[in-house]
Amino acid sequence: MFRGMSQRFYFDRLIMERAAHLRRQEQDILSSEAHHFTYIPTWQDKNLVSVGSEPAAVLVRGDDAGWLKKNATLMIFLGLDGGTAYFGADISHLEDPTAAELPKGAFFEDLRRLATAIDNETAGYLAYARALAHWNRNHLYCGRCGAVTESRKSGHERLCTNKACGRSHFPRTDPAVIMLVTHPTEEKCLLGHNKRFEGLRFSTVAGFVEPGESLEHAVAREVKEETGIDTTDIIYQASQPWPFPASIMLGFRATGTTTEINCIDEELVEARWFTRDEVRDMAGTKDMLPPAQYSISRWLIDAWLDEE
Ligand SMILES: [Zn+2]
Repeated sequence: MFRGMSQRFYFDRLIMERAAHLRRQEQDILSSEAHHFTYIPTWQDKNLVSVGSEPAAVLVRGDDAGWLKKNATLMIFLGLDGGTAYFGADISHLEDPTAAELPKGAFFEDLRRLATAIDNETAGYLAYARALAHWNRNHLYCGRCGAVTESRKSGHERLCTNKACGRSHFPRTDPAVIMLVTHPTEEKCLLGHNKRFEGLRFSTVAGFVEPGESLEHAVAREVKEETGIDTTDIIYQASQPWPFPASIMLGFRATGTTTEINCIDEELVEARWFTRDEVRDMAGTKDMLPPAQYSISRWLIDAWLDEE
């Protein structure tokens, strides 16, 4: 089950052209660039889906979007794909989203509960719309002076309405590092069980980059804090967008220079060195679980398993 993946991770295949030069309020300007309009509804960090034989994203096309345009307090221009312009349409202000006369059988759901059931490209679109709606809803006031902010550039910027301040606010993405650490002398890797994980899931060590810190230092610090292991040869591998609400996971490999595990900061309940066979067996037992498929953690582990 660790092999044969046709994709790397979820949310990493957002192929639309973001077309930043078209981020304006006037939709008529877009009409010269796009032949079709598609709207991705969001409500309080959830996306609109329908469940038939399997879950599907509900993307609202052109003329069917009357109910959505009537209720949306924010339209976010996401980008172009072929001749279609994509917009996020947020109706979070409604206490009950069914007041918006949703399409039959459709309801709002947390994307993370559905992601692997929806194709990766669509999941990327939904995550993008959800992340920008979240950012806008959480930046209604200026962080410098406290005045109300207004949406600019089709949802990609917010401007403080206090003329004496006038600060522009932009969506932020918080970098987090995630790393597979290998044993200095044996064919083993370091995995930990986080107290926040459901079940006895073991995963690679991860943590947020702190202000003034390089990515490499963040890797070394997090591994040291969470497992007591010192590391060297810290090398970047790949990244996975994780806009829940605003992260990007930066994947690294590192080599341990020490072996004695000590979960100093209690973020991890337990950490262990695993052989390749022990990692493979994890998927077959109910006692321990590997990271979810299509996560960058799983991808880092799979790459190491394939090196045998
Ligand atoms: Zn301000």
